[in-house]
Amino acid sequence: MHGIGSSRRLTPNRGLLYNLEVGIKSKSTNSKATQKLTAKVQPSRGAKRNLTESEITASLADAGFHRDRPLAAPYAIKKQRAERDQKRAAKPPKLGKVEVLRAENLQSIPWLIHGFSTRMGGVTPEYGGGALNLGLTREDTHENFERNLHLWKAAVGASQLPLKSMRQIHSAIIHRITTVDDHPTAGDGLITNVPGVLLAVKTADCLPVILVDRVRKAIGVFHAGWRGTVQRIVEKGVGEMRRNFGSAPADLLAAIGPGIGKCCYAVGDDVMDRFDSQFAYSRELFEDVFDSHALHLKYPLLFLNQRAPGHGEPAARPHLDLVKANRNQLLDAKVPDTNISALEYCTSCRTDLFFSHRKEQVTGRMMGTVGIRS
Ligand SMILES: [Zn+2]
Repeated sequence: MHGIGSSRRLTPNRGLLYNLEVGIKSKSTNSKATQKLTAKVQPSRGAKRNLTESEITASLADAGFHRDRPLAAPYAIKKQRAERDQKRAAKPPKLGKVEVLRAENLQSIPWLIHGFSTRMGGVTPEYGGGALNLGLTREDTHENFERNLHLWKAAVGASQLPLKSMRQIHSAIIHRITTVDDHPTAGDGLITNVPGVLLAVKTADCLPVILVDRVRKAIGVFHAGWRGTVQRIVEKGVGEMRRNFGSAPADLLAAIGPGIGKCCYAVGDDVMDRFDSQFAYSRELFEDVFDSHALHLKYPLLFLNQRAPGHGEPAARPHLDLVKANRNQLLDAKVPDTNISALEYCTSCRTDLFFSHRKEQVTGRMMGTVGIRS
């Protein structure tokens, strides 16, 4: 009879330990033989590539697992594509200097000038300092505004062009610029086929949307907050481009600039009702977000008076997806999905880069700018 400390009992253990050591050693050594062996056993380690379906199945079978369901490859591919598209769509802004955010789908048009501004690189001492405020706000001086505008026009490559902007009133009013001397008054959309003018809308959470007819050389820019969106300003904008310039929707390219994201855009039931009354797809545009800890931290004032801590269920608040709403309008107007780009920045999440009226209350304005080279 053998005792606990007998050699027969220990031998297999020692063997196992030995194998384990070899395994560890082979990982850290660099000899060609080891690499070859490793490559043979695990093809993915040497060459950086994804395993094929059959390799995954074989590896799992080796480990004693039966694979009865294929891995969700389409999801992985979808995610990879989304990441790639996001990288292509937006060059990340650099802090501190005037940055021009350009839409990927508009960049290759030689006669086009376009860009979305950030808050950085200006002369306004308000709003955190060095702010590129491009609106005539109460806190800023006219002189600072003019200097910022000069900096912005230079950065976008249109120093000499006259700027056409409007007193924005959250409407669906669109003006056509027919001569360089036109001065639009109140409204929220501008269209033109006149070269040598710079059209602009000012935003701080609302979406700036640019339309370009690459065939007939016509452009438009629109200010789409929830009020403009519910009045279909962008859908109407496509219609106005068709009516005025004979634009075919398939020739139109659209760029949606930075605005408040679904993550941050809590709205009241009245807003949801307005969308319900206008759009069959209204419910797709809203997502109920529950009163979570994260939201408490983000918007303490929103929840201050709702309920005492620990009492009752958290209230859900609808959040509006403005980008989706405007994308839907473009699609309804027959602009092909592949012609639409959106800069995936949330102005409220990224107040380091953008002005956000919702987040900051007192803040500056950015610009969505478009022009035809003269
Ligand atoms: Zn956000």
